Amino acid sequence: MRGWARETGRPDVHLVLTDEDLPKLRCLRDQVRRALAAGDRGGAAVRFTSAPVVVGLAGDGTLTVEPEGAGARWLASAVLAEGLLAQTSGVWRRLKICRNPECAAAFYDRSRNNSGVWHSVRGCGNAAHLRACRERRRVQDGSPDERAVAP
Ligand SMILES: [Zn+2]
Repeated sequence: MRGWARETGRPDVHLVLTDEDLPKLRCLRDQVRRALAAGDRGGAAVRFTSAPVVVGLAGDGTLTVEPEGAGARWLASAVLAEGLLAQTSGVWRRLKICRNPECAAAFYDRSRNNSGVWHSVRGCGNAAHLRACRERRRVQDGSPDERAVAP
């Protein structure tokens, strides 16, 4: 949480999580991943009723969204509040899930035109490129799919 506090200019947070928090946080992670994977296509709507936030109005008229609660509730609130801010700032559309299903890492797309689909072009992108090349070669050669051979 120190990195989040530093990046947002907030005081450091002492977060205490328990074993009971783990399933809730995994569920939140899965929902955020599904939302990122859905991108502009959209997905199932989800309501988070146990992730409280406080909306503040600063002296200069700036609205703030602050996570509330403790433990997993606070963490869920922080993740969702940051997601909301990311959507309003345009950052959210650059948060993606790697197209490699074996990887599926969340990543920030730094490409100029927001067209990145691999968390690592050298890793997951090259592996996909090699698979596609082998498949094209197999089709051109008319050779049978090696994976289809029965053991
Ligand atoms: Zn990847």
